[in-house]
Amino acid sequence: MNRNILFSAVLVFSTLLSACKQGATSNQNQSQTTTVFANETDFICGMKVQADYTDTCQYKGKTYAFCSESCKAEFQAAPESFLNKETGH
Ligand SMILES: [Zn+2]
Repeated sequence: MNRNILFSAVLVFSTLLSACKQGATSNQNQSQTTTVFANETDFICGMKVQADYTDTCQYKGKTYAFCSESCKAEFQAAPESFLNKETGH
């Protein structure tokens, strides 16, 4: 009787252990691939920002991404006016 209980307890424990290991590895993969930009859309042309955008600039500790160098340059010329528009509504 006691032996049976011990056996099933070990079985449950080892199942939980392997489930935890699987969860940990999938979480690790997610955090490695996500890139977070402060803006969801390109302020200048309105295009949705993609994670692989390389035209980025730092402003007040945040990273903003743009579809092209010309969009980035326009933002950098007057960043406050674009940011005020974003938070205004
Ligand atoms: Zn753009």
